[in-house]
Amino acid sequence: MRSITKLELQYAHRFYKFQGEAQYLHGHTGVLKIEVEDDVTPQVNMVFPCNEIKKIAWDVLQNFDHALILREDDPLLPVILGVYEEQGIKDGHWLNTMKGVAFHTELATAYPDCRLVVTKESMTVEGMIRIVYDLLKDKLPIAKLTFKSGANKASQEYMPDTHFERCPLCGVKLDRDGKCPKCGYIG
Ligand SMILES: [Zn+2]
Ligand SMILES: [Zn+2]
Repeated sequence: MRSITKLELQYAHRFYKFQGEAQYLHGHTGVLKIEVEDDVTPQVNMVFPCNEIKKIAWDVLQNFDHALILREDDPLLPVILGVYEEQGIKDGHWLNTMKGVAFHTELATAYPDCRLVVTKESMTVEGMIRIVYDLLKDKLPIAKLTFKSGANKASQEYMPDTHFERCPLCGVKLDRDGKCPKCGYIG
């Protein structure tokens, strides 16, 4: 069975060198749908509580919210960092607190202090699905990802091969010691 959750990300990006209007800087509210698949936990009667999927995903995906997403070779990158530097916000601001956990993968690097994600390829909906899967595949048994941004939408199905031990009382993923991080159950 699948548990399904949705989250929204507001960001600015552009497709550097793309022949079309998307080569100009613009913004979207992107909608990401995450489907996880596993057995239903007895008693709890869920695969995963959806707010738990959201929390696990948001920890890292918050990096894309109120953020600028640019390709690594985009000449806008040094210009914007220069402006942020001059303004004194490149390395953070005391009100910039809703930050994700910094990450660095082959596909993207997040700089939460200046709300910037630098990507290897343009952040199309297809590109975003690859980035998200890479970030979450070890944290959730992902069966499908769907991402919509403006008129563009893409999806990809996966065969989740990881099984996560879940709490029989609240359904969240048990930590390595078999303890529930939410309700304290010890397996
Ligand atoms: Zn766009
Ligand atoms: Zn629990």
